[in-house]
Amino acid sequence: MGRAARWVLLSIIATAGFANAGSVKAESAAGLQARIQLGGHEMTCRDFRGQTVRAIHMDDLGDVAHARIVNRMPIITLNKRRLDTLPDKLQIFFYQHECAHHILGHVFYPTQTSENEADCYAIKVGRREAVFGREDVEAFAPYISVSRGSPFGHLPGPARAQRLLACFDDPSEENIAEPAGFTPPPPPVLAEGVR
Ligand SMILES: [Zn+2]
Repeated sequence: MGRAARWVLLSIIATAGFANAGSVKAESAAGLQARIQLGGHEMTCRDFRGQTVRAIHMDDLGDVAHARIVNRMPIITLNKRRLDTLPDKLQIFFYQHECAHHILGHVFYPTQTSENEADCYAIKVGRREAVFGREDVEAFAPYISVSRGSPFGHLPGPARAQRLLACFDDPSEENIAEPAGFTPPPPPVLAEGVR
């Protein structure tokens, strides 16, 4: 299925989930959770407006996870079936990556650098919270390296894995754009949303 078709389908599925949600209480019945357990941790997320970002399981998702807005509500969709095949810390990383898209406003204003920024943000949050050690980020490499990259901003897998480690090693708490010690490959050609 094409990417655009999947977006549309996802919107329909998600919206259908909310169709019965007449109240905030009903949202949990629709599968939306303000807190979720991932990799042995309880995860929560607030976006740049301070709004709670809710998570929902959607196992027919083509990817591991997505950040998006449905009915003005910030959402993280999680492919639990795929996440369950990954190490605990990598599951947390993918959640934090999607949360970063909400924190950094990428769901409204995606840019060519959104994916790299979300990656670095997620790594630095994990470092600050002492959830990730360097060896955890090193252990991401075999999983990250097999991804091919994409024309809308993901680096090719091996470069992405290298950059994650550079983000971990970069001493700054705030710098998510240009981690020290990482030489970026030539920029991709076009920007198209976030993922
Ligand atoms: Zn992303």
